[in-house]
Amino acid sequence: MVEPWLIDAAMAYNRQSFEQKDGYVGLILLPLEHLETVLNWSFQSLPDEILVGFDPNQNLAHNPDIHDAFIGNDHREQLHQGEGLVLGEPHLVNRGDSFSVHHIPEEWVDDIFAQERGGRGSRFTHWLHTHPNAVAIPSGADADAAQWTSGVDMILGIQFSPSGPLPWFDEVDGVRRPLQPEEAAQRADDVDYSGRRGWARVRKAREERQIIGRASTGHRIHGLELIAFHRTGVGINVVLVDKEGNPIGWNEIKEI
Ligand SMILES: [Zn+2]
Repeated sequence: MVEPWLIDAAMAYNRQSFEQKDGYVGLILLPLEHLETVLNWSFQSLPDEILVGFDPNQNLAHNPDIHDAFIGNDHREQLHQGEGLVLGEPHLVNRGDSFSVHHIPEEWVDDIFAQERGGRGSRFTHWLHTHPNAVAIPSGADADAAQWTSGVDMILGIQFSPSGPLPWFDEVDGVRRPLQPEEAAQRADDVDYSGRRGWARVRKAREERQIIGRASTGHRIHGLELIAFHRTGVGINVVLVDKEGNPIGWNEIKEI
């Protein structure tokens, strides 16, 4: 059972994924229950970042109606592995700082570890790593690690308190995707002509310290951001789905 606050956040996130679909060249469907699992692992692993691997669920293809509804004008076929299949079970592969997290432990590497397969040994099709109390924007190390990803790379930014040794870090430029009902409702005036979000409003929201949910560890969650990208640097749209691959809030979105 996914927590109600996370379902609300996912509905708002999906609405934004639908309205901004023309900004993306690819589409992945991520079951919300898997995102909740990743969130729990993330809080249990603080202050480390975690690295999570996914393979596609070979038994769950994108429903064609949903696929067509969420792809944009610039959608490209045959961009990455695992296209058209809902993501399968998450696997917690590693934890560490923002550099070491990408270098996976030996037990996850096949017998033949070739240098050209990168620090992660190409073990999974898709990867997600977390940014505890930092925005979901790829660092240089993230972009490097993604060069060997055959599917897509995801980053989950989590703003929480008490923050321990990790104060919120937002001095990074880029396009961000909040998983947060209030911010999604403000999306129109939040995004400037270049698609970038205005920092003033982010800072204001942070100062208000709203709580969108509570982690299993008792941490207060103030914000979540989730982005996905392909190793070539292009953005991949993410839609959060239920067990059957239907978007959370689909009944409302298809009326838009
Ligand atoms: Zn990172």
